[in-house]
Amino acid sequence: MSNPETGERLDDGLVLWFPAPRSATGEDVAEFHVHGSRAVLAAVMEALRHLGLRLAEPGEFTRRAFLHGKLDLLQAEAVADLAAAETEAQRRQALRQLDGELGGLYRGWSQRLTRILAHLEAAIDFPDEDLPPEIENRILGEIDGLIAEIERHLADGHRGERLRDGIMVAIIGPPNAGKSSLLNRIARRDAVITSPIAGTTRDIVEVAVDLQGYPVVLADTAGLRDSDDVVEQEGLRRALGRAKEAEIRLFVFDARCPDQARAAAAWPGPDTVLVANKIDLVPACRQSPQSRASTVMPGLDPGIHGDTPLSKGVDGRDKPGHDEIETTGNALQISALTGEGIDGLLSVLGERVAQTYRMEAPVLTRARHRQALEDAALSLRRALGATLPELRAEDLRLALRSLGRITGTVDVEDLLDVIFRDFCIGK
Ligand code: GDP
Repeated sequence: MSNPETGERLDDGLVLWFPAPRSATGEDVAEFHVHGSRAVLAAVMEALRHLGLRLAEPGEFTRRAFLHGKLDLLQAEAVADLAAAETEAQRRQALRQLDGELGGLYRGWSQRLTRILAHLEAAIDFPDEDLPPEIENRILGEIDGLIAEIERHLADGHRGERLRDGIMVAIIGPPNAGKSSLLNRIARRDAVITSPIAGTTRDIVEVAVDLQGYPVVLADTAGLRDSDDVVEQEGLRRALGRAKEAEIRLFVFDARCPDQARAAAAWPGPDTVLVANKIDLVPACRQSPQSRASTVMPGLDPGIHGDTPLSKGVDGRDKPGHDEIETTGNALQISALTGEGIDGLLSVLGERVAQTYRMEAPVLTRARHRQALEDAALSLRRALGATLPELRAEDLRLALRSLGRITGTVDVEDLLDVIFRDFCIGK
């Protein structure tokens, strides 16, 4: 390889030539494989610059591929997701989207909608005759069916988006129960300062971990307790907010104080896992053999009525004679200090996450897709209620447009800069 102007040799390399349109971008593409040292790169880049070439903008290759119809917009976004994927589940989800599964689903809906619209327009073209009722009913039935499918797809619990961003797991519980220690143990590094003084964690600390291939964001929240300290109160408020949003809550309490577990009643339901920590401090004879041996999920009884401020508002009845030890027995028993029980806890958590996020059907992965689908469903519902066929046709056209914006078949010029801005250079 030599400089075309000076004739100076620059490197020994390999050049691959992909003539248009059968290249990744659909344009003529030359790939230079050179020895990647800084000096070689600088010399080659300088020679290319003299030929009038420039460095690509972030995402420019993918953008050109999109503009030349090599990829739809969903696939272009999948390239960015694939480049950013940190866990197996994220890689698989991005690859499915890149394979065109999601685009295929939306294009299928667009095609059906186009057919419905064509039928309706054909009928409008004969204004003298009223639309025969059987045709009108069939059109309405098809619109109805489409709305149901879109709404089912939307009601996915935001799983695709969460898989992209990380599945939230909040660690909650009374101060000093060992929440920060547990987070550190799981993260295998000192992400949070632990201290024996209650109220150390005043804000939320997040650690992203790869849990059996799934991206999980563990959030350590401020100790849940009443406090006069303004900063701590704010921490508490954020902790509560985060705990509510989280997919799964780990309610950590001190195994020596089983009555602390009662406050977990404020978070009833199968998404709260009871964790009894510090079992290294509990005499062996008092530990529950069954819970220690296996990973028992808590059968949280919503009837348990705690007396902390947090459990107020839970519509539980006090269960007379409820045995505190029974609650501890349902909890996973761990020691954040020695590491005992942590593997069991992680496998319970992993199974939970896998159950929810092992996805058969393609799911939407971005708020942008959700917005467009909601718009489409809204237009379709309006179309159902429209009194005039012309208005109904207009609503169907709007729905079609919303669907088209997801895959990028209709005016998306305004979206492109936003979408490709997040790419890295070279993609
Ligand atoms: P947090 O307020 O719930 O986040 O609690 P920390 O993680 O800060 O822990 C409070 C205190 O309990 C610290 O001194 C920890 O070292 C200690 N601690 C945490 N987990 C364990 C454990 O499993 N066993 C023992 N013996 N001490 C623990």
